[in-house]
Amino acid sequence: MKSLVTGGAGFIGSHTVDALLALGHEVVVIDNLSTGRPQNLDHQKGNPKLSVHVADIAEAEEIEGLFEGVDWVFHLAALADIVPSIQHPRAYYRSNVDGTFNVLEASRAAGVKRLVYAASSSCYGIPDAYPTPETAEVRPEYPYALTKWLGEELVMHWHKIYGFPATSTRFFNVYGPRSRTSGTYGAVFGVFLAQKLNHKPYTVVGDGTQTRDFTYVTDIANAIITAAGNDAAIGQRMNVGSGGTYSINRLVELLGGEITYIPKRPGEPDCTYADTSKINSLLGWEPKVSFEDGVANMLAHIDYWREAPLWDPNSIAEATKDWFKYLGKEG
Ligand code: NAD
Repeated sequence: MKSLVTGGAGFIGSHTVDALLALGHEVVVIDNLSTGRPQNLDHQKGNPKLSVHVADIAEAEEIEGLFEGVDWVFHLAALADIVPSIQHPRAYYRSNVDGTFNVLEASRAAGVKRLVYAASSSCYGIPDAYPTPETAEVRPEYPYALTKWLGEELVMHWHKIYGFPATSTRFFNVYGPRSRTSGTYGAVFGVFLAQKLNHKPYTVVGDGTQTRDFTYVTDIANAIITAAGNDAAIGQRMNVGSGGTYSINRLVELLGGEITYIPKRPGEPDCTYADTSKINSLLGWEPKVSFEDGVANMLAHIDYWREAPLWDPNSIAEATKDWFKYLGKEG
């Protein structure tokens, strides 16, 4: 089997590459290293089954030849931060929408047998129902969410029009070793682990009672590989979550340390919580890593975040100015 992973030098991508190589696949990675890090694949250096191509999926001619003979495509490459998507929507549109178009067309031309798209639970915005089913209304709250949704629509349209064998999997709050440490203020784990390493208080948003469906990265890799291998997944949109939802206060309790509070942001839900009954009943998939074990494993790898930026309430206020400016308006 030959698989291609776009975004394979990133957080989820590199774990997917590990899982595919462990299954004996030949693996082709396409990544432009915009937020990914070659070090994420260092432990696979010299593996003759892995080839890494530094290329931009937004440039069709850079990637076309790389899909020959590929059985499965895991399309994970995307720009994936909230604030930069508000500041630089064109870059997000190019990587996430044009890029997805190019990956679809290259895959179709090469006759790949299956494509799995990394969609995002951010398409639900602030949903009405928890746990949130796939049938919930789509309400993107910022350009990142919109571009990921547009990518999903392209993928599903290619299935509808061309019979292209694609699946869209909607990830909820993925965490685990190698989660992004790019300069951008982003997901809570990277922020808190750098603060822990530097003995600084955790910058908890609001009162910390908001909850997230924190899903461990190896469970995500396992879900998308399961989806690729099962015909029942073709043409489906499926949530992938942990089966629970955990408060930020609980996370702090597990990490241990002091807290400082920062203001709540507009457009963010108080809860994310996937209804995973669809992927469970269609594919028999279920998550394996408990929140407690996942956090313990992050702590075991905490040195990774020594290079991560250290945030405090002032630098966060500065970094999120545009978030409040554009999303905080009435109406
Ligand atoms: P990441 O930033 O670690 O990985 C994305 C990878 O894509 C990076 O290696 C980056 O260099 C690469 N990339 C970006 N633009 C590219 C381009 N134009 N050409 C080639 N490569 C490009 O982020 P991640 O958390 O691993 O996210 C992987 C995928 O999962 C993304 O599609 C993201 O939208 C989706 N997702 C992630 C989460 C999460 O909680 N982390 C949740 C929902 C969906």
